[in-house]
Amino acid sequence: MTNALILIVEDEPEIAEILETYFAREGFRVICAGDGPTGLAHHQRLRPDLVVLDIKLPGQDGYEVLAAIRRRGETPVIMVTALAEDLDKLQALRIGADDYVVKPFNPLEVVARARAVLRRTLGRGPETLLRLGPLTVDPQAHRATVETGRGPVPLDLTPTEFRILSHMAGAPGRAFARADLVDACLPEGEALDRTVDSHVSKLAAAGADGMLTGVRGVGYRLEALDAP
Ligand code: CA
Repeated sequence: MTNALILIVEDEPEIAEILETYFAREGFRVICAGDGPTGLAHHQRLRPDLVVLDIKLPGQDGYEVLAAIRRRGETPVIMVTALAEDLDKLQALRIGADDYVVKPFNPLEVVARARAVLRRTLGRGPETLLRLGPLTVDPQAHRATVETGRGPVPLDLTPTEFRILSHMAGAPGRAFARADLVDACLPEGEALDRTVDSHVSKLAAAGADGMLTGVRGVGYRLEALDAP
């Protein structure tokens, strides 16, 4: 956990610097962004383990940034607010955020909250071994296998194909829009819907055929059609 990557989205440089210092001192890797769009770009490119997100940001506020992060997946988020009047909103927000802190805060407290959130969330989502019918996806080992009856056969996948497969295997039966898969799985510069089609057809060819279904007008779904 200690080398987890923390993304801090905060427009006040002094506060960002204090948080960065405390997280770094505790052994975390840290990246900072001064506004929402930069934060989202870092999130897409660097896939942080946790985001510390200020609410009052210039332009795109923290709620919008949180919504965009949630559309991409389950990255844990701790919200930061200066305003007591936001507390009502924060109650509602707890659905989408993993925790929140109110300014002025003790930076050690923020680090402690981050540790607690990481402990809670590290065992969930894409880091867990995923089993779906004959398919097993091991995100930690970056390996996917299909059970053939004569033992598991590894799928030969590129990193992007693997990310698409493990993202979909985390929510079996859910229809994923191409745009969701682009956001969650594709590196920047490769972000075209039809690129998803080509990756998905290669996934099918690699051994996940029969489990991948096209959903007209939406995208794709992964499911174990003859699951026990
Ligand atoms: Ca602010």
